[in-house]
Amino acid sequence: MKKNLCGYTRSEIEQLLTELGKKTFHGRQLYKWMYKNLVFDFEEMTDLSKDIRAVLSESYRISLPAIANRQKSGDGTEKFLFELDDGQYVESVLIPDDNSGRMTLCVSSQVGCALGCEFCATGRMGFIRDLTIGEIIAQPMTMRKLYGENAFDNMVFMGMGEPLLNYDNVMAAIDILTDSLGMMLGAKRITISTSGVARGIRKLANSGSKVKLAISLHASNNKLRRRLMPIANSYKLPDLMDAIKTWTSVYARRVTFEYILFKGVNDSKEHALELAKLIKGIPCKINLLSYNLVEGLDFERPSDEEVDAFAKILYPRAPAVTVRKSRGKDIDAACGQLAGRKNKS
Ligand code: SF4
Repeated sequence: MKKNLCGYTRSEIEQLLTELGKKTFHGRQLYKWMYKNLVFDFEEMTDLSKDIRAVLSESYRISLPAIANRQKSGDGTEKFLFELDDGQYVESVLIPDDNSGRMTLCVSSQVGCALGCEFCATGRMGFIRDLTIGEIIAQPMTMRKLYGENAFDNMVFMGMGEPLLNYDNVMAAIDILTDSLGMMLGAKRITISTSGVARGIRKLANSGSKVKLAISLHASNNKLRRRLMPIANSYKLPDLMDAIKTWTSVYARRVTFEYILFKGVNDSKEHALELAKLIKGIPCKINLLSYNLVEGLDFERPSDEEVDAFAKILYPRAPAVTVRKSRGKDIDAACGQLAGRKNKS
């Protein structure tokens, strides 16, 4: 089978072309055709000579994973199920924002997830494998192929998997995404959302990458967090908060805390006050979200009034608080509902 070039970094493509006896700038041309122009047929790469095109066609291909299923929610959210070369499935979601008119693409970074958060459908699958650079970058490439250059405005690593546990591939995909010869998406339009891998946050702080950071916090103390998210056994809250402070001070940016409210679990007045105390002094925004039901799990959703009451206690104790509406609930595309199931409709 011909080797798929999708996912090759700029330097890997340049190296490949030099190995084929060509110049590095030929590599840059090919890279641009693939990621910027989304042209996958070597014959259409008109500024490459005929012999280069022939050599490439003989041993290589450029292809994206097949879309195994596509579902559109009544609110405009669209979920895509990709079938990968080894028969595994991952999901991406395009989420419109009614207020700003912007579109956010939520992408996956792993097949399944090792972290087993109690409320998450992906966590119940267990960890299967990391996505390759190609499988990550193929998600935004597919959206642009389908909907053109403005298919999405922002991209967030909040789909299946923990992006900071697939750090190298996620960062390499971000390099292609932000490259001026690649997909040319501003780093500030990309968010890495983590369940709290403190070591990865520190690495990100040292990387120089300008991407945004979001933390799935969901608890105001470590005991509660351990109950909801086993990762709190490895990275305790003081360690996590310390890593976050390092990131916010290195980039002088604010971090986003995601806090899903579970009825009767983490949604009391005391929890709101404790949460305000926990994040005190950290430049941040808190996104509150009501739990999205997952089949087979016992958690309940608080009412909209209860969520608003929680928000009112938090603000202005916390610098910015937003209540986020769930999107795509009717197609199981909301936060925590992605399970990579085939043909669930
Ligand atoms: S919420 Fe995120 S980190 Fe937790 S199990 Fe689900 S995919 Fe993994």
